[in-house]
Amino acid sequence: MQSKRRRTDAITRRKTTATMCQHQPLCPTADSADREAAHPVAYHPEQGWSLLCNGVLLFEDTGELLPDGQIIAPHRPLRTRHVTAA
Ligand SMILES: [Zn+2]
Repeated sequence: MQSKRRRTDAITRRKTTATMCQHQPLCPTADSADREAAHPVAYHPEQGWSLLCNGVLLFEDTGELLPDGQIIAPHRPLRTRHVTAA
C-alpha cells in the first residue's frame, strides 16, 4: 500500500511544517540555542538569506526569523563567509 503510506506521510509533514529536518542525528530545533547549526536547505546569497532545515530563516547579518514569526536581531559582527561554489 504505497499510496496510502505516502498520504500519511504528507499529512505528517503538514503537521510539522516547521521541521523539515531529515538528517540523522536531527539538527537543533528552531527553539534551541544552536539553531544556526542546522543544515541550510535553501540558500539565496543574492537576497542575503538562507533557510535552515529546522525552519529558521537565517539572514546574512546573522538576524533570524523563526518559524513561529519571532525575530532575532543580528548578534554577530558581519563577516565574509566563504562559499565554495565549485
Ligand atoms: Zn537537518
